Amino acid sequence: MAFVINPPPQAAVPVVGEAGLFPVRRIFCVARNYAAHAREMGHDPQREPPFFFTKPADAVFATGPDATWPYPCASQDVHHEFELVVALGAGGRDLDTARARDCVWGYAAGLDMTRRDLQAEAKQKGRPWDVAKAFDRAAPIGPITPKAKTGWLDSGSITLRIDGEVRQQGELSDMIWSIPDIIVALSGLFELKPGDLIFTGTPEGVGPVRPGQRLEGVIDGLEPLRLEVAG
Ligand code: MN
Repeated sequence: MAFVINPPPQAAVPVVGEAGLFPVRRIFCVARNYAAHAREMGHDPQREPPFFFTKPADAVFATGPDATWPYPCASQDVHHEFELVVALGAGGRDLDTARARDCVWGYAAGLDMTRRDLQAEAKQKGRPWDVAKAFDRAAPIGPITPKAKTGWLDSGSITLRIDGEVRQQGELSDMIWSIPDIIVALSGLFELKPGDLIFTGTPEGVGPVRPGQRLEGVIDGLEPLRLEVAG
């Protein structure tokens, strides 16, 4: 097929033990999926269920021991939200729980980076969250481990350290919506397809990152996420 300008490169994420990459179609994110985080943001998880927002596919940023993540523009208060990411190998609409489970291809550690000052302004004015959540390189991610290697991942610890100090710590089993719950709910709003990524929400302890800091995110059973904030 011919294009009138050069088409963008396919956004993709490395896969543990594979030479091939995982191609990214869309990035869905779950907000307030851990009760303690909902409360730290001033919300009542009993009264306000989780909900969704998105990032563009090319917001993925490949991490690793030598990865340097540029501090974003237009913000003085960029926050880390460390999350389990689910990679879909199949999709569909109006899925039931069994079919939702079958969509999961693999898992990765990810950061839902957030320009918190712009998000606060958006919330106050009733505006969309895109400028806070969908900016360039807003989705750092570690390599994807296939479900064939991990098995079903519904428990285990999730921990983010900055310069060696624990900043976020939680348990995957504390998610308000489980992974199948999330996929079922999303499939009622969108036709899910192979290549979709889902950031499943962050545990408590979100906070700012500063230039020069080293972030290491660890989820039981997965490759860690490592990056340094440029500065
Ligand atoms: Mn998040």
